[in-house]
Amino acid sequence: MSEILQNIQTGAEKRFTGLGVSPGIGRGNTFVHGGVFVEPETYKVGQEEVEDEISRLDVALADTRKQIEQLQEQLQEQVGGTATGRREASIFDAHLLMLEDRSMLDEVTAIAREQRLNIESAFYRTINNYIGVLRVADDLYLRQRVIDLEDVMRRVLRNLSLMKPADHSVRHPHILIAHELTPSDTAAMDRSLVMGFATEVGGSMAHTAIIARSLGLPAVVGLRGICDVIHTGDALLIDGYNGVLIVNPSAETLAEYEVLVDEKDSAARRLEDLRDSKPETSDGRELTLSANIEFEHEVVIAKKNGAQGIGLYRTEFFYMHDGKMPSEEQQAENYTRVAKGVNPDGVIIRTADIGGDKLPGTVVEREANPFLGWRGIRLTLGRVEMFKTQLRAILRAGAAGRVSVMFPMLSTLDEMRRSRLLLEECADELESEGIAHNREIEVGAMIEVPSAALVADQIAGEVDFLSVGTNDLIQYTMAVDRVNDQVADLYQPLNPAVIRLLRMTVSAGHEKKIWVGVCGEMASDLLCIPLLVGLGFDEFSVSAPRVPAVKHALRHLSYDECKAMAGEALQDSDPQKILARCRAVAMESYSELLSR
Ligand code: PEP
Ligand code: MG
Repeated sequence: MSEILQNIQTGAEKRFTGLGVSPGIGRGNTFVHGGVFVEPETYKVGQEEVEDEISRLDVALADTRKQIEQLQEQLQEQVGGTATGRREASIFDAHLLMLEDRSMLDEVTAIAREQRLNIESAFYRTINNYIGVLRVADDLYLRQRVIDLEDVMRRVLRNLSLMKPADHSVRHPHILIAHELTPSDTAAMDRSLVMGFATEVGGSMAHTAIIARSLGLPAVVGLRGICDVIHTGDALLIDGYNGVLIVNPSAETLAEYEVLVDEKDSAARRLEDLRDSKPETSDGRELTLSANIEFEHEVVIAKKNGAQGIGLYRTEFFYMHDGKMPSEEQQAENYTRVAKGVNPDGVIIRTADIGGDKLPGTVVEREANPFLGWRGIRLTLGRVEMFKTQLRAILRAGAAGRVSVMFPMLSTLDEMRRSRLLLEECADELESEGIAHNREIEVGAMIEVPSAALVADQIAGEVDFLSVGTNDLIQYTMAVDRVNDQVADLYQPLNPAVIRLLRMTVSAGHEKKIWVGVCGEMASDLLCIPLLVGLGFDEFSVSAPRVPAVKHALRHLSYDECKAMAGEALQDSDPQKILARCRAVAMESYSELLSR
């Protein structure tokens, strides 16, 4: 038996380290999502889609092979050359052989081609037939292979993204462990029952992680193989600060964590006093500090934390609720409630940024490269009726409070112009229909694609503000998938290429006398804030729970010092050097926020 499994079974403490993507400490029993198998759906695909379906299977098989090999390696490292170890590792040899069973796989592809079935269903039906035959075999050895074949089948189906939505039927507090969670799984979590979650894949800029931070839910990602070693019912502690998962935490560990929780609580209480103070630098530069929200109910948290309104309302989560689009009426009511809730401050409503990792299922079809595909403004400009429904609702809410609109994922000036024209068309329609609205609402452009940053001067001439989405700007500048932890080291907010684009955007906006904000996660990164202040950003929009800490940071920085530091950073070629400059200013200004 492997050491890990032995430790878990004997109640010894065991730690696993991944990437902490949402701070906080949680305790509870484990619930491993995915333990319950859900049969795949069956549906017909078009003749022209059959080969694509088969390619999907090839990719899933290759992924599965890689995962099994990794497991095998891990096991070998842990158990060395012992006889038990060799026996356990050889189980995976059998799994690998099954993946290469040509006659079985040929049957799958034949069914997919002849019956035009989706590949999950063709695969599942074929393998299930084999399992049925093995189950009743006379030979004990063959009967025992059922479990292996089932294991391989489930892995492949999981890699074909057949995760069922998280099971929310568990009625006791628990820590959720899953291979992967979608943003909508996370959004649907009951905060009173889910104490935190850990996944095998994921990245800190994935929307799943962003939502976890908004919900204040501790989360650790990138724990490859965790579903295989932790089981439902195991006692678990999750440390989202340090990206650690502790199975069977010992009494000393629990005591240590109690101290940490107390420290964090008292630090949070100290920050509460800042609620009504201004986010102004120590040498008097006034900034705006607002909150990012995904759901209407977060307005209260934003206000409680002292945000000056909402700098980014990610409305697509509305669309994702049950895959259906809300009506104009429902949207207008929702936006109006948010506008009234933040009054006298304002709300910037971002039009639906559907696509990428935010897949509502019915709105976007599966794409090979979703982040480079039909996403954000590209999709809404292609679905004019849907887009106009949202624009009309936003204009209507504008009659009830300070509402602005901004457009996501712009890559060209033309997309901006076409969006504005549709906005005007909607205002004309509402006027002729006699429906209350405000056609004077401010219009902003999100700068989150390098091509938009490079023509920010042109875009700035046609809008009221710019808001930089650093999550995507970094992703697209560095060509690094924000959701993929394998390439996380290339996700570099302080790369010279990124900061040049940030600088260009701020200069472009200020030249045209409009304000420039940053609403990506970089705005709440305590090490990056000195640079953003120094580059001249006017507005910071951060997740609601981060507002107090960011306000404290801003109030302790000197704008002049940040400006000088940013000037030097712009000359640097080494991101590490830039980080060191930022860290030095941050440590000097608010070291109390950076400890532990
Ligand atoms: C961003 O890209 O930085 C951003 C704020 O938008 P989202 O995270 O929703 O893509
Ligand atoms: Mg974005």
